[in-house]
Amino acid sequence: MGKPTGFLELERAEPEKEPVQERVRHWREFERRLPVLEARDQGARCMNCGIPFCHTGCPLGNRIPDWNDHVYKDRWERASIALHATNNFPEITGRICPAPCEEACVLNIPEEPVSIKAIERSIADRAIEMGGGLRPKLAETRSGRRVAVVGSGPAGLAAAQQLARAGHDVTVLERSDRLGGLLRYGIPDFKMEKHHIDARIEQMKAEGVVFRTGVGVGTDVSLEGLRAMHDAVVIATGATRPRDLPIPGRELGGVHFAMEFLEQSNRVVAGDTVANQLHAAGKKVVVLGGGDTGSDCLGTSLRQGAESVTQIELLPRPPEGRTDEQPWPLWPWKMRTSSSQEEGGEREFAVMTKRFVAGADGKVRAIEVVRVEWSADRRTMKEVEGSAFEIECDLVLLAMGFVGPEDRTWHGMPVAQDPRGNVRADVESFVTSVPGVFACGDARRGQSLVVWAIWEGRQAARAVDAYLTGTTQLATTPYQYAP
Ligand SMILES: Cc1cc2nc3c(=O)[nH]c(=O)nc-3n(C[C@H](O)[C@H](O)[C@H](O)COP(=O)(O)OP(=O)(O)OC[C@H]3O[C@@H](n4cnc5c(N)ncnc54)[C@H](O)[C@@H]3O)c2cc1C
Ligand code: SF4
Repeated sequence: MGKPTGFLELERAEPEKEPVQERVRHWREFERRLPVLEARDQGARCMNCGIPFCHTGCPLGNRIPDWNDHVYKDRWERASIALHATNNFPEITGRICPAPCEEACVLNIPEEPVSIKAIERSIADRAIEMGGGLRPKLAETRSGRRVAVVGSGPAGLAAAQQLARAGHDVTVLERSDRLGGLLRYGIPDFKMEKHHIDARIEQMKAEGVVFRTGVGVGTDVSLEGLRAMHDAVVIATGATRPRDLPIPGRELGGVHFAMEFLEQSNRVVAGDTVANQLHAAGKKVVVLGGGDTGSDCLGTSLRQGAESVTQIELLPRPPEGRTDEQPWPLWPWKMRTSSSQEEGGEREFAVMTKRFVAGADGKVRAIEVVRVEWSADRRTMKEVEGSAFEIECDLVLLAMGFVGPEDRTWHGMPVAQDPRGNVRADVESFVTSVPGVFACGDARRGQSLVVWAIWEGRQAARAVDAYLTGTTQLATTPYQYAP
């Protein structure tokens, strides 16, 4: 612990954000990095707790008190080594992780946690600028074993990097034209610019990973064929089957899945031309769903010049802070305002959509909704009589979550699924019902977080390495409950 009185003397500081009226005019990241001295002050606030509860929040088991102390003492290189020991892509999680570690931090009991995420980003960015952060780590010996990783989201990339560093010959197969999964085509640039992914891909290529884009497993090559050509296969294909809303009017023009909208927007920002782009300019947009995806639709619609954006949530408005039912260090269900929600739009809670209403042109012109009342445990709800009303709109984006992997047949290969339709594999072996075929990331656990995807990829790589060589030196972080 660097400064024993740091947590008493210094207040929490958060990175500055560009003012709303400026940032909504462009697509670049708008959150600035903590200045060095402020990052050091934040490091000084860490109490190096006997039981570092921040660890219970972080799936990756990031060594948070260690790097906090290094930063406080201006030892940035050692901080970077400690950070990269558990996280392959900290410059990414330092930007887009919801930071469950901060909810679990002991200093969050009075709601002033250490600014762990901002420190993480500072360490990662400075390491890249100083040259060490992206330096390839070449395996000392090659195993001669061949591994195929299917899917290039954060889970597939983390698995591939770990396996390459363990000396295996790794090929990543990606059906899309660009690498990165939802990091590339889900999360907008204003939350995370895409050069961060490109830089890691270059590092991985230098470490020996081979990337093949435009190759769909099941369409261009069968899973069975892939297994026959490799010593092991890792399925990291995500869980992007969207939840639909089969109510009257669903077929109307102007009602779309959120990912259709976000992918097109991300492509255009990347320089692609998208014919008949789904665009929010001048439109009254309704986003159904109050989570991350809905928030990204809101920020994207505002930047495209929407006339209005209304984000609708079926659940009731959460309490402002923790309640007795969700004590520290648990991840609480409480009111959160994303950076996109700070930028504008209206939020409606406890509202259920009953039907999409057609206009004279046959396209959606409104949604008909009712207010609902929830039981205290939020398990049941009932409609409030006489509360029906209409919200005018000409673009509706369905952002109500995802219900599992898109492909549930695995093209004839008998990969067993769990009751939710995810690929069945446990958190120790990561092996599926087919020997030599492993699964990780959202494909295994269902739609989740980037930090979990990285954990899954790292752990699955360890399991594959042990399967191929009988032992493994790859680092491990045991499974723990975290949001
Ligand atoms: C809009 C949106 C915003 C989000 N924002 C955040 C956020 O801010 N913070 C956060 O922590 N999490 C966020 N998430 C969740 C996070 O992005 C995912 O949990 C994470 O990307 C999962 O990683 P993955 O590698 O398992 O899968 P994915 O990222 O989904 O990648 C799977 C990859 O597999 C490829 N693939 C699929 N099938 C095949 C096939 N048959 N053959 C070859 N390739 C295939 C896909 O094209 C894709 O590239 C967000 C999710 C969405 C949808
Ligand atoms: S819980 Fe908070 S104060 Fe304690 S070690 Fe972790 S970051 Fe530091």
